[in-house]
Amino acid sequence: MNLNPHASPRAAKTATLPRIALVTGGGSGIGAAISQQLAENGHIVFIGDINPHASRDLAATLCAAGHEAYAVELDVSSPASIDEAFGTIGQAFGRCDILVNNAGIAKTFPFLDYPIEHWRNVFDVNVTGPMLCGQHAARLMRKQGWGRIVNIASISGLRASSGRTAYGTSKAAVVGLTRQMAIELAEYGITTNGVAPGPIDTPMTLDLHSAVARENYTRAVPAKRYGVPEEIAAVVGFLCSEQASYVNGHTVPVDGGFMAAGVLEI
Ligand code: NAD
Repeated sequence: MNLNPHASPRAAKTATLPRIALVTGGGSGIGAAISQQLAENGHIVFIGDINPHASRDLAATLCAAGHEAYAVELDVSSPASIDEAFGTIGQAFGRCDILVNNAGIAKTFPFLDYPIEHWRNVFDVNVTGPMLCGQHAARLMRKQGWGRIVNIASISGLRASSGRTAYGTSKAAVVGLTRQMAIELAEYGITTNGVAPGPIDTPMTLDLHSAVARENYTRAVPAKRYGVPEEIAAVVGFLCSEQASYVNGHTVPVDGGFMAAGVLEI
């Protein structure tokens, strides 16, 4: 019996828990925090990573804490590897409800000397990977009439910083890809949003940011500090939830105020 004839279509789609989630690059840094957040939100999490040790260790830790998590070997720069990973998820559960395109790499060189092989590598991982994972996931989500896709962009895709010819341009492409996916997938009950982190303490920034870069970022961020991966994961968790059902096509900076800032010291 339908007690509420005015119940929204959204309400009818909220019953299917837990959701099946894939986090690419989920083995370390921001991806690990996102995997943990989604597991804590009650979802079954596939941790897809090119580093099988990192994803297996995290899956074991999450399972030991009472969650359901699986490691899946995944290189997002390889269409065959993406096929295989979605084949594994499809075989196990027949569905994928949440995709977080988090895997990303950064290689910095001056614009005039930017090596073409690095440009191509960065685009394969940061742009083509999310597009292909998005296609695979959305084909499965369409069957359920429900899906959440979150693409991890960067403040470097919204403002330029030195050395980021490939990285910054690839992340600007992620912002565009997010809008494109959002408008084409909305009719299937799928939302696609982006999160653009500011400087976050992870293995990536430990390797990429010199002491000078660290000092400059800290000065440019109104919060006067680097963020932690959990601060990104919290926003991703919201965007993957029922509550975010009418948010679509946006990229949210989570950056301690960096995007809002102009001159800070006068
Ligand atoms: P990280 O290097 O610490 O972790 C990245 C993870 O992705 C690693 O586990 C790595 O093994 C995995 N990975 C790398 N290449 C892969 C591939 N081809 N296929 C599958 N997995 C792969 O990086 P992070 O700092 O946690 O960054 C995560 C995401 O956040 C990236 O997209 C990055 O561009 C973005 N981001 C990070 C920052 C920051 O300050 N840390 C800022 C803005 C955006």
